[in-house]
Amino acid sequence: MGAGASMSCSFDLEHYREILEAARAGGYRFARFGEGPEPGDLFLRHDIDLSLDAALAMAELEAELRVQATYLLMTESVFYNLASSEGVAAIGRLRELGHPVGLHAVYPNVVLDERFDPVVSWHNPKPEHMSDEIQGAVNVYGERYFSPATYRSDSNQHWRSGCPHEELRDGAFPWLQILVHPAIWVYPGATMGRTMRALVEAESARRLAQLADDDIDLT
Ligand SMILES: [Zn+2]
Ligand SMILES: [Zn+2]
Repeated sequence: MGAGASMSCSFDLEHYREILEAARAGGYRFARFGEGPEPGDLFLRHDIDLSLDAALAMAELEAELRVQATYLLMTESVFYNLASSEGVAAIGRLRELGHPVGLHAVYPNVVLDERFDPVVSWHNPKPEHMSDEIQGAVNVYGERYFSPATYRSDSNQHWRSGCPHEELRDGAFPWLQILVHPAIWVYPGATMGRTMRALVEAESARRLAQLADDDIDLT
């Protein structure tokens, strides 16, 4: 990585598209959990903690670029309700776009009903349990898929080892699992704090629209 190269790597959909294009230029293949890892496999994973809207915006962009990513959705989120009409519609659209959908689970609860492919990622995992085998499902933190040299994450709007676009373009990873949180890329903000405030503002508008839809008098 060139010095300063990561400085221009903004967390927005424009650069996200560049990262995906870099991966393609580097010869990577978008792979599903349950297969591989083979040389050149790229396991693109999205843990959906906060926003189904952000997940859908990212999913549409990926579909446009013919990129497949695995979306891991929560049934125990305080931020969204997967059983609501919005949640059902979101899963339907993700499936329609060709993306696998797995469970983003709160330890130790794994209930894989018919909505989910047998793929699990833990929400805020504790190191002592995170790699344990999960009966009947692929654990994305299992030894098969999870090791520091072949893993990158954008957690808290920060790439601990730098933005991976150059290494992807150069084919420098033998294979890679990459965790991208859509809300960080869809909502504007130069820091996690600012991005989260932008998300909260968007949520406020969304909530008012939902209240109006529910025949609540907002005058
Ligand atoms: Zn970059
Ligand atoms: Zn999470």
